[in-house]
Amino acid sequence: MSFTIHGIGVSGGVAIGHAHLLTHAGLEVPRYEVPAHQAAEESTRFDAAIKQVRAEFDDLRASIPATAPQEIGAFISLHQMILNDSTLSVAPRRIIETENCNAEWALKLQTDALVARFDEVVDGYLRERKADVVQVAERVMKALSGQPGYVPPPLQADSERNLILVAHDLSPADVVQFKQHRFASFITDLGGTTSHTAVVARSLAIPSIVALHRAWQMIREHELVIVDGTQGVVIVDPDERVLAEYQLRQQQFDLERQKLRRLKGRRAVTLDGVEVELQANIELPGDVIEARANGAAGIGLFRSEFLFLNRKDLPSEDEQFEAYRQVAQAMQGRPVVLRTLDVGADKAMDGGDGSHNMPNPAMGLRAIRYCLAEPQIFLTQLRAILRASHYGKVKILLPMLAHVHEIEQTLVLIGTAKQQLDERSLPYDKSVEVGGMIEIPAAALALPIFMRRLNFLSIGTNDLIQYTLAIDRTDDAVAHLYDPLHPAVLTLVANTIQTATRGGLPVAVCGEMAGDLKLTRLLLGLGLRNFSMHPSQLLLIKERILSTRLADVQTMAQRILRTTDPAKTRDLLTELNT
Ligand code: PEP
Ligand code: MG
Repeated sequence: MSFTIHGIGVSGGVAIGHAHLLTHAGLEVPRYEVPAHQAAEESTRFDAAIKQVRAEFDDLRASIPATAPQEIGAFISLHQMILNDSTLSVAPRRIIETENCNAEWALKLQTDALVARFDEVVDGYLRERKADVVQVAERVMKALSGQPGYVPPPLQADSERNLILVAHDLSPADVVQFKQHRFASFITDLGGTTSHTAVVARSLAIPSIVALHRAWQMIREHELVIVDGTQGVVIVDPDERVLAEYQLRQQQFDLERQKLRRLKGRRAVTLDGVEVELQANIELPGDVIEARANGAAGIGLFRSEFLFLNRKDLPSEDEQFEAYRQVAQAMQGRPVVLRTLDVGADKAMDGGDGSHNMPNPAMGLRAIRYCLAEPQIFLTQLRAILRASHYGKVKILLPMLAHVHEIEQTLVLIGTAKQQLDERSLPYDKSVEVGGMIEIPAAALALPIFMRRLNFLSIGTNDLIQYTLAIDRTDDAVAHLYDPLHPAVLTLVANTIQTATRGGLPVAVCGEMAGDLKLTRLLLGLGLRNFSMHPSQLLLIKERILSTRLADVQTMAQRILRTTDPAKTRDLLTELNT
C-alpha cells in the first residue's frame, strides 16, 4: 500500500530506488527486566530469532542467480558462519539468565563485547570483519523485533545507485563514509536542518531528508521508495502514475543541474559589475575534486575534524600535513581556509574528546576550547597546517571563539609551532593569515575586540543560529524553530558584515545560509561579498548572482532587516527573489 511521510528536506533532488534499512547508528535497543522464572521463555524467543535468520540466509542463498558474482555466495557463507558461532548464537542466552534482561539487550551486550575484541585486533582483514558481525547481529535484532529480514547491500557499485538508505539516526561520521559510495539517497528519523549529518548530506549532493520520525519502522526492506529532497517528502510503494510523475521531475532536476555546468568558468559578478567570491566547504581532501569541478574560487572552509573521525587514534602530523598539502596544491594558489579541529557535540571523536560524558556537549569543552585544553594535539595540527602553507595559499580559521584570550593563546601556540618548524628547518608561510569564526553571539556582539587580533572573519551561521535561538541544531523536535530570518539572527549577521567591512577586514559566511538560494540576494544586499558553501550549490548561487542588480537588492535588504513581523519578512523576501 502506498503512503507518504513528511520530513525536512536537507538536500534537494529526486531519488527513486529500493529501501535498505540501516540499523547500527543510534538505534535504541529496548532494555527491560526478565524475571528468573521467565528466562527460559526469553531464551526460546532468542533461539527462534536465530532460527529465523538462518532460514533467511538459506532463502537468500537459494535466490542467488547463477550469473551473480562469486563474492555474493562467499559473503552469505561468511555471515552464516558468524551466525552459527556460539559467541553469537549461544552466549546471549547466558546473559539473559545472568543479567535478568530481555533478549535484545543480551544480544546488544554480547555484540558490544565482540566488537570491542575486534577493535583490539591488529590484523586489518580481521578487524574489518567487525562490520560483518554487526550486520549479522542487527539481522537477529530485527528478527527479535518482529521486523522482516533484509537483504545485504549489493556488492557492486552500480547497484548502490538504486539504494535508498533508511536509518533511525546517522552521525556525521557515518555519513562522511558514504563519500566512498554512490547511494541514491538517505533518509533518517532524527536530525535537524543544519546538523552536521545534514551538512555532509548536502556535500554528497544526493537527495536526503531528516526528521521523518518513524520512517525506519514504517518502511520495509527493499520496498520501492521515492525521495523528494526538495520538498522533504518520501513516497513509499508509489503507484505507476506517481512513479512516472517523479521520474519526470528527476529528469528535469538533473537536466537543470547539467545546464548549470556552463557557468563553471564564469566569474561571479552582479549585473552592476560587483565581483563576488564563491568558495567551497569541504570535509575531506578528496572533496576538492568536486569543489574544482564546480568552479570554486577557493576553499572557504575545510572542516579538518573529519580527518579525526571514524578512528581510534589521532592522525599524526605527517598524515595531516599530507591531507592539507593535497588540498593546498590542488587549489593552485587559490585560498584554502583550514579550520582547526572543531570536535565535540555531534562530531565526537571515537578516540575520546570526552563529548559523551559532557552534560551539554554543544556548550562544553569543544572546538577551540578542546584544542587549548589539549595543546599537544593542537600544536601537532598547527605544525601540519603551517607546513602545508608552503604549498599554497593556506589560512588558519579558529572555530567557536567567544573570548579574546582564546585568540591570544592560539597565537602564542602558532608562534611555538613556527619555532618548532624552524628548529626542524621546515618551510612554511611566515605571514600565514589567522581568522576567526563568528558563530557565538558573544563574538558577534563584541566584534571590534576580535577584529583587532584577526586577519579575516567567517560567519558560521549554523552555530550562530543555534546559540542565538537556543535550539539544538541536531534536534528535530525543535527544527521548526531554526530560523535564519529571525530578526536577532539577521541583525547579528548584518552587523558583523557591516562592522568588518567598515574596518577593512575580509568577512565571509561559511554556514548553510551561504548556500541557501533564498538568501543569496538578501546577503548580497547586506554587503556580503564572500560566500562559502558545499560545492554542489556553487553554480546555482552563481546563477543567482549573475542575475542580481546590487542597487536593487540593497534597499530591500535593509527593509527586511528593519522588519520584526515574520509574515512581512517572508513577503519581502519573496519579492526580493522575484
Ligand atoms: C557553522 O557553524 O555555521 C559552520 C560553518 O561550522 P559547522 O557547521 O561545521 O559547525
Ligand atoms: Mg560551527
